[in-house]
Amino acid sequence: MDYQELKNIYDTPLYVYNFDDIKSRYEALKSEFKARKSLICYAVKANSNLSLLKMLADLGSGFDCVSIGEVKRAILAGAKSYKIIFSGVGKKDSEIKEAINLDILMINVESSAELLRVESVAKELNKKARISIRVNPNIDAKTHPYISTGLKENKFGVDIEKAKSMYLKAKNSSFLDPVGIHFHIGSQLLDITPVHEAAKVVAKLLNELKAVDIDIKFFDVGGGIGIRYNKEEPVNLYQYAQGILESLKGQDLTIVCEPGRYIVGECGELLTSVIYEKINDKKRFVIVDAAMNDLLRPSLYGAYHEILSLKNTQTSNCDVVGPVCESGDFLAKDINLPDLESGDLLVVKNAGAYGFTMSSNYNTRARAAEVAIEAGKHRLIRKRESFEDLIKNELVEDFGAKY
Ligand SMILES: *Cc1c(COP(=O)(O)O)cnc(C)c1O
Repeated sequence: MDYQELKNIYDTPLYVYNFDDIKSRYEALKSEFKARKSLICYAVKANSNLSLLKMLADLGSGFDCVSIGEVKRAILAGAKSYKIIFSGVGKKDSEIKEAINLDILMINVESSAELLRVESVAKELNKKARISIRVNPNIDAKTHPYISTGLKENKFGVDIEKAKSMYLKAKNSSFLDPVGIHFHIGSQLLDITPVHEAAKVVAKLLNELKAVDIDIKFFDVGGGIGIRYNKEEPVNLYQYAQGILESLKGQDLTIVCEPGRYIVGECGELLTSVIYEKINDKKRFVIVDAAMNDLLRPSLYGAYHEILSLKNTQTSNCDVVGPVCESGDFLAKDINLPDLESGDLLVVKNAGAYGFTMSSNYNTRARAAEVAIEAGKHRLIRKRESFEDLIKNELVEDFGAKY
């Protein structure tokens, strides 16, 4: 793709996604489970652009959502309601109600308090809510603490014993239908053995439930497949799938997998333009027009994103920083780039997941535009925000007619 042309047409900061690559990754994962019934439920929070969701829905993908907003996005994009899962540690009654009315595949319950809320809302609606329970298998996912979710000390899910009693309660309720079992131990997992260990632990619970006539139909292994940001060894999808399939020997279930980052992470780039360079003491800063409000991962997790220049001249050490008024506002630290001038383009790699979706309007900065590349052609899939967009919900007394 001609980055310069994209910049000329759409301006920067600009998110660019390769839809063909996203499609291939979806298909590759799906085919690894071909020996069994399977459902890939793409995790909407990784990148929730409607055009992207529509493409995945057209391929037959399901969706894992963590708010009713995401559920509605998925449906708007053409998702089948029976392929939508609603997860998350805190769901409001109004969200539970909408989810039940939309007849989604299942609500993924994360506590006994939540189970009671779902039951009571279902009762009010005189409906039976399909649920799964998120089990916390207490397994160390060996990833960044902010994105590790499968340990006792994390807020997610319930322990095995608690899960068992919740299943029994659900079974005996006229308003709950326990159809699934779920775990999700963390994100950006490069070593997949913890997922296999978790699958074994949870499959054991499955057998115990079967013994008391609770027939689970969906075995949901969550997401978390790691991607290559730097020089990491990519996850072997065949081994990933085989380990899960092995833990389910002899059981007739649909395997559900909820990848987010794996599907979109490596298929997106953030284009940004240099504003100017600045040298303080001996430190060289490249100040660019994208900032932490556009791509939060470096600031939030100290995450690494490769940054490429289109120039081939000699490089030197620098930090790439945005214009936001925070010292934590950087896209990269101590990387090597050529001497850059105003307007030079930089490409921030592997920014397709948790990029735009974590962006904000901090410093009254408009959020970036998004472009899709498909079959060699580019098209705008989200307009750049305008100043009017940023202030449209604000109410000011006696401000006159201007706004
Ligand atoms: C965030 C999340 C995912 C997706 O995680 P990735 O690391 O992006 O694959 C899947 N399932 C649940 C429940 C999640 O919270």
